[in-house]
Amino acid sequence: MTTKQLIKRARRFTAPFRVDDGRRFRLRKVDPGDTLDLGSADKPRAKEALALGVEALAELQDKLYAQDRWAVLLMFQAMDAAGKDGTIKHVMSGVNPQGCQVVSFKSPSAEDLDHDYLWRCIKSVPERGKIGIFNRSYYEEVLVVRVHPEFLEGQKLPPELVTKRIWDERFQDIRHFERYLSRNGVVVRKFFLHVSRAEQKRRFLERLETPEKNWKFSANDVKERVFWRDYMRVYEDAIRETATKDAPWYVVPADNKWFTRLVVAAAIVETLDSLDLEYPRVDKEKRRQLEATRRALLREKG
Ligand code: ATP
Ligand code: MG
Repeated sequence: MTTKQLIKRARRFTAPFRVDDGRRFRLRKVDPGDTLDLGSADKPRAKEALALGVEALAELQDKLYAQDRWAVLLMFQAMDAAGKDGTIKHVMSGVNPQGCQVVSFKSPSAEDLDHDYLWRCIKSVPERGKIGIFNRSYYEEVLVVRVHPEFLEGQKLPPELVTKRIWDERFQDIRHFERYLSRNGVVVRKFFLHVSRAEQKRRFLERLETPEKNWKFSANDVKERVFWRDYMRVYEDAIRETATKDAPWYVVPADNKWFTRLVVAAAIVETLDSLDLEYPRVDKEKRRQLEATRRALLREKG
């Protein structure tokens, strides 16, 4: 299969899960167990397709880097154990580490809390030619902070700025910020890895029962399960409020890791392909110089 054919096929996997306009979005319409028309018998073929996708991604990223015009910002949000880390690891496994950076956003530090909430993320927006990955992002500010308003109290905002409208204001900030980024050549794509509560339980049990996975387990993650419905509500709201043509969400079924990775790889390939990336062309003068240098090198003895 050529890269072109692969890119065409990528749309089949991304279109059902891409949200360009949040107004009609409903989370319950996305089944975390969805694998389109692929069954577990197709798993080996899906893995092959993923490998091809990773190769295509490496090729495209090389051009992105050489061209040095666009930056690509990929944000990953999910409940715990939905597979953010594994997806990032697999999908980006073929790309040149020099052209890619991953930043994880955990609970804010004291320094972070002394600034506006976008500050720590703005510092990590990728430079031109690079792919930046946010493992969690400023979306936590309208997700975990909304489910646990006590975090908002820790943010040291002047009290008169904390009103009922704060979430709507944050959605507006985020929409404007993402528009600003896209107007500056930073291509924004957001991924919500949608795992079911039952599958999360299975994965937590696996972490508890497998010694090599024990380190991944955090008792706090289990506590958050109590707030599942609240989280689904705020996720739906965040997607509805911030999915736009320039900064779409991909709501990716995440109960089957092989399928999640396939969709995410396809979405990134689709994104890079949409940029019409090309290696920079050299002008006549430069070509003459290259040719002269080549001849000089060939004339060298030894
Ligand atoms: P993993 O568990 O795979 O290491 P993770 O992203 O879950 O990755 P943790 O250290 O377990 O990392 O969790 C980070 C926690 O920080 C999450 O519970 C997240 O909701 C929380 N967090 C992130 N940003 C904020 C924020 N702005 N305010 C409050 N909590 C936040
Ligand atoms: Mg965690």
